[in-house]
Amino acid sequence: MIQRKACRFRLYPTPGQRQLLVQYAGACRFIYNLALEQRRDWYRPGRKFSYASQCRELTALRQEYDWLKAVPAQALQQALKDLDHAYRNWWAGRAAAPRPRRRSGDQGFRFPDPSHLDIKRTGRRSGMLKLPKIGWIRFRGWRPLPGQIRNVTITGLADGWYAAVQCERDVDAPQVENRSAIGIDLGVAVFAAMSDGRHVAPANAGRKTLKAMKRAQRALARKRRGSINRRKAVRRVARLHRRIVNIRCDFLHKISTSIAKSHGMVVMEALQVGNMSASAKGSVSQPGRRVRQKAGLNRAILDQGWSRFKALLRYKLIDRGGELIEVRPAYTSQTCAACGVVDAGSRRSQAVFACTGCGHEDNADVNAARNILRLGLEQRRMDNALQPVEGHRPERPAEAGTTRRAA
Ligand SMILES: [Zn+2]
Repeated sequence: MIQRKACRFRLYPTPGQRQLLVQYAGACRFIYNLALEQRRDWYRPGRKFSYASQCRELTALRQEYDWLKAVPAQALQQALKDLDHAYRNWWAGRAAAPRPRRRSGDQGFRFPDPSHLDIKRTGRRSGMLKLPKIGWIRFRGWRPLPGQIRNVTITGLADGWYAAVQCERDVDAPQVENRSAIGIDLGVAVFAAMSDGRHVAPANAGRKTLKAMKRAQRALARKRRGSINRRKAVRRVARLHRRIVNIRCDFLHKISTSIAKSHGMVVMEALQVGNMSASAKGSVSQPGRRVRQKAGLNRAILDQGWSRFKALLRYKLIDRGGELIEVRPAYTSQTCAACGVVDAGSRRSQAVFACTGCGHEDNADVNAARNILRLGLEQRRMDNALQPVEGHRPERPAEAGTTRRAA
């Protein structure tokens, strides 16, 4: 089994190296936008543009322009590949139409060839990363790489330059250990409620910093275009944004690690975060209802990064030989975890669940987490009972909307 993992390091380039990073990022952005323009505006029936055709034209361009020749060809080709991916995603309906990369956005480029890349340790917590044409760049936070280097992505953010070193290694398929199973209900008021009764509060740091962010954005709006003060204000907004992202990322890492350490099987709802955070505005003929409330909920959902949390938890579990099971969210908030009666009336309030059938009382989110765990265990049993045949998927467990009595 091939396992891929990335290590992220903060780079400390010399002023000369920094200039090269800016130059490469600018050239890659230029090529990306030029290729986008070509595909968008020069398209004619019978005239097709592809990654291969644009790569050939890039080679010709580099012969003509020295400033393009100064940039490693592989990084420029990767920009074309990114564009190609963006188009494929758009055609497949997975993403919106590709848009030009802006100078004010995050900057970056990628080196795909491991034979031109290298890394070495220079101190207890420091090291150096070798990039084509740039040479060795210092970084902090040395740690052993989890495999062979595959590629390196360089990103310029508001607070500096970073390198994501993607590694690959061959690992044995994980042995499933017999550790406890747990169900998790993800929510807005409570980030996560667990079937063992624990709660995880949401990362409120985002909301606190949000205030400072609003202030900074208002200040930015007052600044004159092109002024030095405006540039300073833009930097401040970008820095605050980075801080919010860092706090959130840290929060998600901590929780997912602690759960993956103590549980071998985690069950969660298969949430359609993409759909849920889609605009509630609706179409022109059918304007959406409760647009404002939904906008608030959407922001809260994005704020907590459920899908990112799930992705982190999944790989941490797999690393330790555990597994993440997703179940269809069906009536998990209306079903009594004690007796199985389904009744919307049992959900007394946002926080309280009181079964109309057996009188069982519980925190509403914890009750939902217990139902999620039960669904996961049922699904697991079904999967084990029906030995999967090639091209034949095991049936889904019975719909959880029907009334059941506990044995
Ligand atoms: Zn009940």
